[in-house]
Amino acid sequence: MSQSKQAGSRDIADKIDAVRHSIDQAAAKSGRNPADIHLLAVSKTRPAADIETAFHAGQRDFGENYLQEAIEKIQALQELPITWHFIGRMQSNKTRPIAENFSWVHTLSSLKHARRINEQRPENLPAMNVCIQVNISHEDSKGGINSEQVEQLATEISKLPGIRLRGLMAIPEATENREVQRKAFANLAGLLSQLNLKGFELDTLSMGMSGDMEIAIEEGATIVRIGTAIFGARAP
Ligand SMILES: *Cc1c(COP(=O)(O)O)cnc(C)c1O
Repeated sequence: MSQSKQAGSRDIADKIDAVRHSIDQAAAKSGRNPADIHLLAVSKTRPAADIETAFHAGQRDFGENYLQEAIEKIQALQELPITWHFIGRMQSNKTRPIAENFSWVHTLSSLKHARRINEQRPENLPAMNVCIQVNISHEDSKGGINSEQVEQLATEISKLPGIRLRGLMAIPEATENREVQRKAFANLAGLLSQLNLKGFELDTLSMGMSGDMEIAIEEGATIVRIGTAIFGARAP
């Protein structure tokens, strides 16, 4: 029994190494500094023990989608200096646990949610790092706001002292077509550049998952959100 558990630990550590290696290679290919690309391990549906294993393999940033599950793991692992990122769908009545337990939110798409996070952020914590989620592939089912609305939301959010606007995030449509993937990432990167030309100082592009990480890095990702390639396939 303990043997299969050890194999699992080694497995996660090996996969983290492999993902880091892929990040380095994709960075080299596009002439980027690998240090500018951060690995966010997406641990949704995974037990706290897996997160601990990844932590001991050097991983520090973890992303969670489902609040109740996330809070349980955050409490179980509170002794470890982990940086927690909320990457799930936001709901108005559930902003407080996000404000109190996370360092980052990648999925902000409304001023209402931003104001609640701003008000609910505990005073002893630094401002919440936030990315605006953009519906870059114009899919009805996806969260995020349309590209045309981003500048106005960014302007309003930037006035809130409890929030530090860092950049943009997207989950492009699922497709095997590399050029469609690339276009979506390039569009998000272009949007970030436009905002910075207008005076924003944004340093984060949260884009790229297990299936499209390399292309996202080639197009400028600074945070890749990786679940399956580290922890294996999730139960459906
Ligand atoms: C689940 C999830 C990921 C990780 O996806 P994988 O394909 O398992 O790497 C990344 N980002 C978000 C927002 C997710 O919900």
